[in-house]
Amino acid sequence: MNWTDIDKQHIWHPYSSMNSEVPVFAVDSAEGVMIKLADGRELVDGMSSWWCAIHGYNHPVLNQAIKKQLQSMSHIMFGGLTHEPANQLARKLVELTPDGLETVFFTDSGSVSVEVAMKMALQYWISKDDKSRTQFMTIRSGYHGDTFAAMSVCDPDTGMHSIFGNNVLMKQVFVDAPESAYGQPCSNQELQKLETAFEQHADSSAAFILEPVVQGAGGMRFYSPGYLLKVRQLCDQYGLLLIADEIATGFGRSGKLFACEHAGISPDIMCVGKALTGGYMTLAATLTTTVVSETISNGEPGVFMHGPTFMANPLACAVANASIDLLLSLDWQDKIMQIENWLRNGLAACQQLESVREVRVLGAIGVIELHEPVDMEQIQPAFVDAGVWIRPFGKLVYLMPPYIIDEVRLTTLTNAIFSVLDERRAA
Ligand SMILES: *Cc1c(COP(=O)(O)O)cnc(C)c1O
Repeated sequence: MNWTDIDKQHIWHPYSSMNSEVPVFAVDSAEGVMIKLADGRELVDGMSSWWCAIHGYNHPVLNQAIKKQLQSMSHIMFGGLTHEPANQLARKLVELTPDGLETVFFTDSGSVSVEVAMKMALQYWISKDDKSRTQFMTIRSGYHGDTFAAMSVCDPDTGMHSIFGNNVLMKQVFVDAPESAYGQPCSNQELQKLETAFEQHADSSAAFILEPVVQGAGGMRFYSPGYLLKVRQLCDQYGLLLIADEIATGFGRSGKLFACEHAGISPDIMCVGKALTGGYMTLAATLTTTVVSETISNGEPGVFMHGPTFMANPLACAVANASIDLLLSLDWQDKIMQIENWLRNGLAACQQLESVREVRVLGAIGVIELHEPVDMEQIQPAFVDAGVWIRPFGKLVYLMPPYIIDEVRLTTLTNAIFSVLDERRAA
């Protein structure tokens, strides 16, 4: 049996049906910004494997970091034991993230880091003997992961609420998504909606959770940093904790090291993941302030109630350290700005296409929003035939390439989008 036949019969892929006719492509290897398929074709990577592989694939420095760590230990339990890779990584994260985040809790995936963030906020209020603050406030069009607490704060229409519903998921408070785009001032109307929501729901809420400035899988939207600033002010005014989910935006993607910097704010709790290891291993972290960590530690029962088996895996921490050092050793801000300009120029032509509703670019993220959802059975092979790896969802065709991409390959990506969308119109 050919191994790709096993896939068709036995393997469930992300958000997919076992009966799907949308093909999956067998990958042989990946190097730099190129993905090599088993049939020999090579594709320019436009996805960074979902925001992760910021330095590209098979990077000698990252490979070396893993090999070196492998010589001493690949894993050791974190209960009662500690190790240098985790300590070095915690120091880097505390230094690089916004002021005030001093305590690091390592987890094994983004969704779990969101679960941990939400649990921290709940346990903070339990420790203060305030039993009324049990729900979360958030904004529509958000995405925070696929586990149950994370699902409950994903967009109630595009997320999984419509299937699992309010009797299964925790009931949360949804404020309309921010309207004003990045670069515009906030409207009085959207700020008023926020204020009203705080007036009505702050007393029963533990925290406000959102993705700062860039909403990812919930709609690929870039909103005004002024809105984030307002949320911070209202959280202070009403005593709510602010949770910033930087899992997609962290490590430079939006043009700042962390998207909170666009508004100059510090959250009380912050999640990082995805690009943390440069796309090598699964690792995430939830950071918080000493106010939160001390309150939980001084409360009843005095311990934070979480501890994953693979917490702070040494291989993952070692490659995360190498990835962060590599990022900081580059002129990453100039590089992201360059990619932003290439994306703006390269995607501008798509604006004329009838199928296109809007083109938007921020940092190393380029988004084409269509009027209608794409037909994956048709569009996915068309992109592969055009020599690119681009994975649209719903009405969104988007690019977030590795930071090491050059202009020629970026142009291959943007040209492929134009020609594939143009064909669709002709068809
Ligand atoms: C991807 C993502 C998550 C979930 O991370 P996983 O590692 O897939 O569990 C959470 N929040 C945001 C903003 C994300 O982009």
